Amino acid sequence: MNTKDIDYALVGDCPICGQGRQFITKERHTDEYYVMCEDCESEWVSPVECDSINKVRRENHGPSDFVTLTSINLHSWKEHVKNLN
Ligand SMILES: [Zn+2]
Repeated sequence: MNTKDIDYALVGDCPICGQGRQFITKERHTDEYYVMCEDCESEWVSPVECDSINKVRRENHGPSDFVTLTSINLHSWKEHVKNLN
């Protein structure tokens, strides 16, 4: 990914792989929000627990998209987003 993905809602750095960033993600089929690492694709149920290695899940969701900063402004998780102005 390049600097363009500053458009997505960043919540942290991945504690699993140590090199990916964690973004708020939305599953297409269910509109469910969760957190996913851009690199190793580890998943967390919410940004509240995304710094915990013990709370990680894998392949719990179907096709999903990173949530944009514009969209997260309407969601309660925006308080966890680190790159929102
Ligand atoms: Zn990772």
